[in-house]
Amino acid sequence: MNLGLHCRVGAGYDETIAYAKRLGCSSLQFFSGNPKTYRVGPIDAPALEKFAANRQSAGIATAAIHTSYLINLASEDPKISHGSLRLLTNDLKFAAAGAVPFVNTHLGSYGKRDRNEGFAQVVAALETALADIQPGVYLVMENSAGAGQLCGGTMEELGALVRAINHPQLAVCLDTAHSWAAGYDIDSPAGVDRFFDLVEREIGNDRVVMFHFNDTEIELGGHKDRHWHIGEGRIGLAGFRAISTHAAVRGKTAILETPGEEADDQRNMDRIKSLFAAA
Ligand SMILES: [Zn+2]
Ligand SMILES: [Zn+2]
Repeated sequence: MNLGLHCRVGAGYDETIAYAKRLGCSSLQFFSGNPKTYRVGPIDAPALEKFAANRQSAGIATAAIHTSYLINLASEDPKISHGSLRLLTNDLKFAAAGAVPFVNTHLGSYGKRDRNEGFAQVVAALETALADIQPGVYLVMENSAGAGQLCGGTMEELGALVRAINHPQLAVCLDTAHSWAAGYDIDSPAGVDRFFDLVEREIGNDRVVMFHFNDTEIELGGHKDRHWHIGEGRIGLAGFRAISTHAAVRGKTAILETPGEEADDQRNMDRIKSLFAAA
């Protein structure tokens, strides 16, 4: 299992790697640019190659880019949907230049539009992005908390996207806090078994290349995207222990997106690592 954290890159990639290493990460996730703008970041190929080499020598086996929060591939507004596609394709190129295997993205919201129409648009956008994808990079769809008209809140919908697009470099990331908020009761061994049975049936476990391990204080099915420290929320230690021993996660990458500063990050990393060490 490659366990790691979402890390800041503002102080430079060397500092990012030093931080991840200090906390004992074997993976990391980062934003390629400012996650709150539609501006695409420039791709500095030599800096990204150096980042990749230094990650490897620091023992960070794998990495992910999280795309901008503004991405909405389902939007009716062509300015938003085209801007979103531009951000996504730029991150796929960025990832290829930096030997980053995973580009994790939210899909967006259907808003007031017809869901079938929105779904068809998301399929078309993902197909366009995948048409130019480089080898070794996966476009990873993250499940949402399923609020309102958010796309990708159910395993059924993610599975339908996988089948409609049918591309070998299209993959899925399951965020535990979003899963809980969407109504999947992963706080016990029985709930975790049920969840992964559903994942296998609807998506196929091989498509799930990555997890976001976050606890949450939101009630089950509360549809709110709020993250909390591992083992200190409603999924709790029992839930994460059950996840850590499940075959569906074995050998994969997991990123923590928990709140706080270094002391919190250290506590969360230590906790998740000790669960996996005991699994
Ligand atoms: Zn996310
Ligand atoms: Zn997440």
